[in-house]
Amino acid sequence: MTAMARAEALRLVGVRRTYGTADNPVHALNGVTVSLPAGTFTAVMGPSGSGKSTFLQCAAGLDQPTSGQVFIDGTELNQSSETALTKFRRQRVGFVFQQFNLLPTLTAWQNVTLPLRLAGRKVDRERCVAALTSVGLADRVDHRPAELSGGQQQRVAIARALVTDPNVIFADEPTGALDTRSAREVLALLADAVHKMGQTVVMVTHDPVAASYADAVLFLADGQLVDRLVRPTAELVAGRLTQLGDLAQRRGLAVGE
Ligand code: ADP
Repeated sequence: MTAMARAEALRLVGVRRTYGTADNPVHALNGVTVSLPAGTFTAVMGPSGSGKSTFLQCAAGLDQPTSGQVFIDGTELNQSSETALTKFRRQRVGFVFQQFNLLPTLTAWQNVTLPLRLAGRKVDRERCVAALTSVGLADRVDHRPAELSGGQQQRVAIARALVTDPNVIFADEPTGALDTRSAREVLALLADAVHKMGQTVVMVTHDPVAASYADAVLFLADGQLVDRLVRPTAELVAGRLTQLGDLAQRRGLAVGE
């Protein structure tokens, strides 16, 4: 079989995000360059304050870098107007949040179909049923979030992220509010979305076990990418994090999460 170059789902080039004043700048991201091929599952880790949230926000087009470029599937984000960016996000990016962010008054079905309706796209019933079936919730379509467990709500959120067939799904601590068993189910679903459906997932997590479901882990420290671990195990990830934490502590920074 001939090896084919995989399309690039996400590229950051020299991305900086600075907060604060000119006198007292905080470099939340300090020159991040990375390329993630389509169909891969990447975890982003690092000590508290290392820039993980800022990375996710900038990569997903929720925040604008101070300088540098972000490309999703070859399209540069930060040249767009806010309206164009919102439209782009709705069509090309999926999100899974720690607190699920489902609309409480809508049923599972209505939550899952919402991104399509917001994007002005036809609700493809078969596709939505397939998405809810793939997360094991075909029999819960009429339930509202309060009638579902945390794990089930996060599975609805994954189905919601899948229905638009986005170029990248960004997951921000997706297992942070779940018990161990539900967390594993959610991680296995994200891994399946990548390995069986060809999705691209970028997940911020502080949990080495969660990171071990990814194909590779990127480590941030002080707003810079300082390490990358391919085919991670929880033990290897925990070891790297401890090293980074020790470094940060020696520099007097807050460590933990
Ligand atoms: P992490 O997610 O790894 O904890 P963040 O991306 O939240 O890190 O933050 C990186 C750095 O940027 C921290 O020093 C944080 O205090 C700073 N920072 C983040 N957001 C803001 C903001 N809105 N205003 C000022 N400083 C911020």
